[in-house]
Amino acid sequence: MSTFQELGLNDDLLHAITDLGFIKPSEVQEKAIPILLESETDLVALAQTGTGKTAAFGFPMLEKIDVASRTTQGLILSPTRELCLQITNEMKQYGKYCKGLNVVAIYGGSSITDQAREVKRGAQIIVATPGRMKDMISRRLVDISKIQYSVLDEADEMLNMGFKEDITDILSHTPEEKNTWLFSATMPREVATIAKKFMKSPQEITVGNKNESTNQVSHEYYLVNARDRYQALKRLSDANPDIFSVVFCRTKRDTQKVAEQLIEDGYSAGALHGDLSQNQRDLVMKSFRNKQIQTLVATDVAARGIDVDDITHVINYQLPDEPEIYTHRSGRTGRAGKTGISMVIVSKSEVRKIKSIERIIKKQFEKKEIPDGSQICE
Ligand code: ADP
Ligand code: MG
Repeated sequence: MSTFQELGLNDDLLHAITDLGFIKPSEVQEKAIPILLESETDLVALAQTGTGKTAAFGFPMLEKIDVASRTTQGLILSPTRELCLQITNEMKQYGKYCKGLNVVAIYGGSSITDQAREVKRGAQIIVATPGRMKDMISRRLVDISKIQYSVLDEADEMLNMGFKEDITDILSHTPEEKNTWLFSATMPREVATIAKKFMKSPQEITVGNKNESTNQVSHEYYLVNARDRYQALKRLSDANPDIFSVVFCRTKRDTQKVAEQLIEDGYSAGALHGDLSQNQRDLVMKSFRNKQIQTLVATDVAARGIDVDDITHVINYQLPDEPEIYTHRSGRTGRAGKTGISMVIVSKSEVRKIKSIERIIKKQFEKKEIPDGSQICE
């Protein structure tokens, strides 16, 4: 097992890593960092969620760019606004001792003029969502013609969300002779196609079983009458007073409804979905991160890739249509070596879905009973 120092990172980064409390590199970091530091190569890295992929590309990018220059040299594309902000913050923390470093986030729903102004001040690294990035390029508000390193983060998600054309368009504005690093939890055919199209004989690394994104997580399901779903959610929350959870609903409407109902019933909750303004989304994420709210009720799209420390429970208020989405949901907990519980509230007609999820995660669910009053009061 190597140390960050042995991976060849410079003192500024090592200093920041000490501040962050990272003791040793995670597996994907241990594999990716030396490759990216030592060679100018394209890379495809597959690692489950929560394994530290941000630092696996972030450290090498920070090491390689020239902070003395104001030219934009690194571009990181990520699927959602929240993720874009999260990566930007991580990169700023990793690079806090890299003097002169400027990392700028470019994402929709927030002032394009402000973002353009920040870019103009000189950003060595841009972290962007594809839609806004494409927009900024077409308005000539950003110049990515000198990019040396481009990262496609959560590539599977970006393609799932229909960003293929935007990504193609954006990359066509970057130089031919750059390196592209693709990070993904899974490798569906579309990701392989993209890799083939944009990358030159990439090196490949895989960490763990690519579908098994739930190592530290135990899975439980609770069978209830469909009409008792909300009651079940409350009981589960009552039985776990220290819960810090994400509750997933299928629609924006249900998400809003469940959050409002929880608040009305005296729980500490907030809603995150695409019908909220960016400002509202930022605010709710901030209070969740600061643990001012205990329960974040969210849609899948809004919650994609979110990394908040110490989430104890993921509650599937409703199951997703695609069993693969379940892996992403449950991956919000049990991160960075901690344990977590993923709970599913199901009605009789949905129980068979549990089986198809078990096949994908290669783990068994435990069937449990909703706690009753006496258990809660124990
Ligand atoms: P992924 O992108 O693979 O889902 P992240 O990059 O979001 O994972 O990292 C997950 C969490 O693990 C973050 O909170 C991050 O700060 C933390 N982390 C990353 N690398 C390490 C490390 N080497 N040691 C301890 N914690 C780490
Ligand atoms: Mg990530």
